[in-house]
Amino acid sequence: MTKIVRVNKNNPEIELIDFAAKVIKEGGLVAFPTETVYGIGANSFNEEAIKKIFIAKGRPQDNPLIVHIAELEQIYDLVKEVPQKAKTLMKKFWPGPLTLIFKKSQKVPYVNTAGMDTVAIRMPSNTIAHLLIKRAEVPISAPSANVSGKPSPTDASHVIEDLYGKVDVIIDGGKCDVGVESTVLDLTEKVPVILRPGAVTLEMLREVIGNVEVDPSLLKKPQEDLKPKSPGMKYKHYSPNAEVYIVTGDLEKVVKKIQELTEEQLKYGKKVGIMATVQTSTQYEKGEIIVVGDRNRPETIAKNLFEVLRQFDKKGVDVIFAESFEYDNIGLAIMNRLEKAAGYKEISAEGELP
Ligand code: AMP
Ligand code: MG
Repeated sequence: MTKIVRVNKNNPEIELIDFAAKVIKEGGLVAFPTETVYGIGANSFNEEAIKKIFIAKGRPQDNPLIVHIAELEQIYDLVKEVPQKAKTLMKKFWPGPLTLIFKKSQKVPYVNTAGMDTVAIRMPSNTIAHLLIKRAEVPISAPSANVSGKPSPTDASHVIEDLYGKVDVIIDGGKCDVGVESTVLDLTEKVPVILRPGAVTLEMLREVIGNVEVDPSLLKKPQEDLKPKSPGMKYKHYSPNAEVYIVTGDLEKVVKKIQELTEEQLKYGKKVGIMATVQTSTQYEKGEIIVVGDRNRPETIAKNLFEVLRQFDKKGVDVIFAESFEYDNIGLAIMNRLEKAAGYKEISAEGELP
């Protein structure tokens, strides 16, 4: 049986947190909110508990988990060394949506790291996540609390949809602030590499530590035999049931193209979803139109993206046409998740190439 507990994130009820913390200590699974998305967590030092995460999610075993900590000192149990650049980044961005990759200590089980000698670590800022880790008195390993392949959960209702009956506790702490998963930065290479873009952006990282690269596979279809450094790169991810197409080009042309594509699909008897923005939504007349956010405040688009994908599934659309976004700042994270949801299918609004 899954117990659902509602906790106030502005003033968490400590007895409810302690109830969930005890479940973690005893080797159980707790789904909990973070500022990015909901996580499904277990004691990082308990191999059997970690295995249960993979089973509950249907997650491939070669996809490693992020270890979540509440206090800086906890890192010294988990890693071989903390490079200077990591120290600088931790000071600037922790707690927050930045995951750093280190060489792992012996204490971290290989089931957690998918057999790799590196470990991903993050300190979440969400008060519920922070308190849960603190009261459990162990680091908590947690991937996103969705069934593998589905859009990440940004509200407890999404976790209930995917994992009710498969975890011991679901903490309902309301909607997540950021809405896309943490930035994953690999510090084990000479030049740090972003393996997954998030709300701590390339621009922000470069300002603090200088040279940072983006893994070239982030925005294009990965090769079949890719050995995942960050498995988000390997698997089709974040996918709603409908086929998603990203329509690219100049915004005015994009709107026009989506109108045409919608007409065409409706003629075939398909149910069409349109992922629109505050700036464009009134220009669409047909199809199921959902506004994902405001182009002038791209953080609103990140926050709503996964929820909107789930809403289209509820409406039972066959195909979704999504407007595209700029690749800078948080736009890189938005486009990376959209590309994965679409299986990298794009339609140009700029007309056929000659
Ligand atoms: P999730 O947030 O559910 O997608 O799961 C955790 C993410 O962290 C995955 O995409 C992993 O690729 C990434 N990750 C965890 N551990 C490592 C590691 N040791 N090296 C590279 N990426 C990692
Ligand atoms: Mg995930």
